[in-house]
Amino acid sequence: AKEQGRNNYQFYSVEMNEKASSRLRVEHGLRQALEHQEFFLAYQPLYSLIDGRVTGCEALIRWKHEGKLMPPAEFIPLAEEVGLINGIGDWVLHEACRQGAYWREAGVGIPCIAVNVSGAQFKESLLATVTRALEKTGFPGENLVLELTETALMLDTTKTERILLTLQKMGVRVALDDFGTGYSSLAYLKRFPIDKLKIDRAFIDGLPHDSDDKAITASILDVSRHLGLETVAEGVETQEQAAYLTAHGCDVAQGYFYSYPLSPDELETVISKSNVI
Ligand code: C2E
Ligand code: CA
Ligand code: CA
Ligand code: CA
Repeated sequence: AKEQGRNNYQFYSVEMNEKASSRLRVEHGLRQALEHQEFFLAYQPLYSLIDGRVTGCEALIRWKHEGKLMPPAEFIPLAEEVGLINGIGDWVLHEACRQGAYWREAGVGIPCIAVNVSGAQFKESLLATVTRALEKTGFPGENLVLELTETALMLDTTKTERILLTLQKMGVRVALDDFGTGYSSLAYLKRFPIDKLKIDRAFIDGLPHDSDDKAITASILDVSRHLGLETVAEGVETQEQAAYLTAHGCDVAQGYFYSYPLSPDELETVISKSNVI
């Protein structure tokens, strides 16, 4: 037993070292990723459930690290922890606006681009970053949507309100991302100038069979309608889910049922086929 105990200890210690060193490697890689231009954006189209047209797209960061694509769910939290998220977030905003401005000039009809903003980026300096990105690229604020999570809004009410009001003056719209999963307070919806709710994939998953998911989704749609908010369902994977959402008045859908996240070229092709007037 003593022998085994020691072996166990050694085993765990080796594993922990491996974890720590791979984390360090990733952190080191992240520090150089901007410089080495290892990031790029994928764009997932959003579809109107009313007329089926593409209403815009969401920009999603991709990172090719040591020859492999590492999921943002793995490196974004690390980037937040080690203070790299602001640099990465600035890059994402500029790149999305640059691409959006190019699409406008090329006559590709993409009404708006949504960009994810991490909680750590949601502070006064975000306004300067957004202003710079819009000015530098010529992308109109009216075509930009920022996706914020509820946790970002939990900080200082006065500050949060000021930032959101300034964005509103710039024409930039705000979507509450992952709605329903965070520390949801319906009071946020009343207090802050928010334009859209994105219903988290966790609730869309069980549609149209899971009675809890149905109840939650239907109530979110109900509240949004009364507050005049646009609703976006994320993670729509089946025809049945799309039909349920349409029947319950959801405005916009996004998910593998419609399209995977795409390269800019692929998105242009999708748009040219879908938005024929
Ligand atoms: P999110 O903002 O909730 O983005 C939606 C995620 O769901 C994306 O994963 C997208 O590829 C995936 N998805 C879309 N449709 C479906 C579907 O039908 N089924 C399933 N199973 N998944 C679907 P992705 O690109 O891996 O991003 C994961 C998360 O990483 C995002 O979740 C967001 O929180 C974060 N993220 C991505 N890009 C950025 C970024 O530029 N900045 C920041 N701060 N966070 C980002
Ligand atoms: Ca998002
Ligand atoms: Ca989500
Ligand atoms: Ca469920």
